[in-house]
Amino acid sequence: MFYFRTVTVSPLIPERISRLKELSYNLWFSWHPEAQELFRRLDESAWETFNHNPVKLLLQVKSDSFERAAADPDYLALYDQVFDALDRYLKDADWFKNKYPHLVDKTVAYFSAEFGLHESLPIYSGGLGVLAGDHCKAASDLGVPLVGVGLLYKQGYFTQRINREGWQEAHYPYQNYNEMPVKPALDQAGKEIIVEVELPGRTVYLKVWQVLVGRVIIYLMDADITLNNHQDRQLTAQLYGGNKDTRIAQEMLLGIGGVRALRQLGIHPAAWHINEGHAAFLCLERLQELVRSGIPLATAKEVVRANTLFTTHTPVPAGHDVYDADKVDYYLNHYYDKLGVDRDSFLSFGWDRQKNNYNMTILAMNFAAYCNGVSKLHGQISRQMFHYLYEHIPVEEVPIFSVTNGIHTLTWLSEELAALFNNYLHPGWSNNLCETSLWQAVDQIPDEMLWDIHRNLKKKAINFFRQAVKRHRLRNQEPAERIAEVDQYFNPEAFTIGFARRFATYKRATLLFKDMERLAGLFSDPEKPVQLIFAGKAHPADRPGQDLIKRIYEISQQEPFRGKIVFIENYDMNVARHMIQGVDLWLNTPRWPMEASGTSGMKAAANGVINCSVLDGWWPEAYNGENGFAVGQHTGYQNDEEQDRDDAYHLYGLLEEQIIPAFYERKNDYPYRWIKMMKNCIKTIAPAFSSERMVKEYTDRFYSHAIERAELFTGRHFQSAGQLQDFKRYLKDNWHHVAVKHVDANAIKGKELMAGETLELACDVYLGPIQPDNVVVEVVHGCEGDHTLVGIKTTPLQVTGQKGDGIYHYQGGFTLEQGTCGFTVRIRPQHPLFATKFELALASWAHNF
Ligand SMILES: *Cc1c(COP(=O)(O)O)cnc(C)c1O
Repeated sequence: MFYFRTVTVSPLIPERISRLKELSYNLWFSWHPEAQELFRRLDESAWETFNHNPVKLLLQVKSDSFERAAADPDYLALYDQVFDALDRYLKDADWFKNKYPHLVDKTVAYFSAEFGLHESLPIYSGGLGVLAGDHCKAASDLGVPLVGVGLLYKQGYFTQRINREGWQEAHYPYQNYNEMPVKPALDQAGKEIIVEVELPGRTVYLKVWQVLVGRVIIYLMDADITLNNHQDRQLTAQLYGGNKDTRIAQEMLLGIGGVRALRQLGIHPAAWHINEGHAAFLCLERLQELVRSGIPLATAKEVVRANTLFTTHTPVPAGHDVYDADKVDYYLNHYYDKLGVDRDSFLSFGWDRQKNNYNMTILAMNFAAYCNGVSKLHGQISRQMFHYLYEHIPVEEVPIFSVTNGIHTLTWLSEELAALFNNYLHPGWSNNLCETSLWQAVDQIPDEMLWDIHRNLKKKAINFFRQAVKRHRLRNQEPAERIAEVDQYFNPEAFTIGFARRFATYKRATLLFKDMERLAGLFSDPEKPVQLIFAGKAHPADRPGQDLIKRIYEISQQEPFRGKIVFIENYDMNVARHMIQGVDLWLNTPRWPMEASGTSGMKAAANGVINCSVLDGWWPEAYNGENGFAVGQHTGYQNDEEQDRDDAYHLYGLLEEQIIPAFYERKNDYPYRWIKMMKNCIKTIAPAFSSERMVKEYTDRFYSHAIERAELFTGRHFQSAGQLQDFKRYLKDNWHHVAVKHVDANAIKGKELMAGETLELACDVYLGPIQPDNVVVEVVHGCEGDHTLVGIKTTPLQVTGQKGDGIYHYQGGFTLEQGTCGFTVRIRPQHPLFATKFELALASWAHNF
């Protein structure tokens, strides 16, 4: 081989349509089909070949195609309309500006290891990334001043190929950033930015790139530059690749490098959002900055905590990123001096004393005033999982909240349905996507019209599937007849089930294969044909996941499933879009309660595709009996096999007795009952599970408070942070004194208690050197369940006397509710600077009274 350099040479685009280049670099195009149309019309086949990458497309389009477009009045009309919309979008008044006018010049930093924005930018592996992408898009729509921070992976996740035996092969094509919608980020002086991060024995340099997502910018860091040695250049090669060393190094680049990149860009965020534990090292870097500027470490911790939000996405302990102490020591020991701490104190920031390892989730939780899971159920599971860190507090009061995920509706909604909604919904529907009332008008859409559009989308999807299977077979050099027979695959009128997601084993892709005879029965009814489309990648190190793919592939080659069960290669956002827009039923079979949220079902639902799902993740919040189907009972299983068997048989029953008959129940060829369910599904799910609702919720509940706290905690020479830190230390040091001495609940004796009645209580508490102002003494009441109180409510008692020696008298009452209720009295710390009730995980409870 001989050496050569490559350069990227831009096309000469006629002046009249020269803004196409600008459009190709703003991911705004990814949720505007008319913008995509501008690219498609330049060269339809290149548009498909390049997987809808507009930057690459523009580099390839021949000059006569540009000339032709620039002379075509239709094209120019569309062009003007698109740029009109883009310009209006970029400067429109918006939700955030109206609601938080005093915060518009603040910045929220959103750190994530992956971002799923579009198929042309393959830096996501699954739901976490797509969620981050949808979050940024909604933030842009709403005008939330957010910047994203992540890594740019030279080989992305991986490209999946299925070989002739049905095994997944992982391919890692190098991405050419000059052909992708990313550009080098520039500092205020207009210079490219290089960030330095110390790894053991050397410094790694990162180039910073930027992606425009409407009004939001995402900064992505890349180690593949000549300043680094060959090995370090590979550090950002693959998403979730390599071993533990690669992982911790990547997480340092993301967390530490990310903070430094923002500083060099002149960005000083007022709130920090850690999207999953991978980015938690950002806290260490922020600490280090403060300590270097002379702030005591303990105060600095409060400053960092004050405006940090952490979102956890993992309901299973094994899913959390953990390291052993030696690993952390080896990679991060230079922080001991920087922070002025010894090894043990440093490790304690992220130490899991139950499992004796360093846990990125615990690190993030220790440095985040706010912490949330991604569905109500996941919040609950997370509170249980981390209850041991809050042993004095009832599980339901563990300060891990939940914000249920949502999807960026316009990214996932088919163009055809969006056009239909334009005709039948309020004209403002697409700017008020979470406004439930606007979606009621879905009922006004004529059933036949909705169904006809759905049928067309199904045809389109089937065409896409056929092309995909043909390409797959061609590449595997299969015989001509195997390629030709694909044209007979799929029946556009048949009931079509979709299942696509990461092939993690807990998602149980092969649940339906439990009883092959019964499944064969389902697939052999000529009156009621059924077909099933699979797609999804297994992590290259996940052998059991790859076994599932092979199993599906093998079954798809056998009768009676051939041409009816099909595996589509290389699940990405493009494959996802075709599937969730074009099947009838979206199947979701995670092993309860392991799915934190799940979002593909929300995408399907917005398109009127009915969900059939285990009541896990988001589904219990959405399912109402009329907008889809629910699988399984979820408690009391002895083991996985029992749970799997039960769920499988429940699912067969549902399909045989309810779902398939409902789909095939026709009048004049139209399945009116099914269409009604589609409408219920769109109406109830699209607004509530939109990322617009989600980002509003994050902003109202966390970002706005975090921003205000940032000001409070850094102002007046960090006085508030110092005060809070002093308070916490004082309370911790003296809490052992605190006790509820005596509770007088004589009012319950010897008489019948009536609902609505106020129960009066009095008690003496011992606070020692702590002042009554610093605590809340409260009645905790609720229902009795499972040997504890559930549905907890609290009513504060008032201090009515002091008995000297740190003993105080409290009195008050609470309203009795019908049934068997329980109550007790507790004391907990209170401070006006607390972000949440249990900012300090201390409580002292009454003993028998
Ligand atoms: C939406 C999406 C996911 C997430 O799907 P789940 O149902 O949450 O597992 C994963 N991959 C791609 C490509 C997606 O578009």
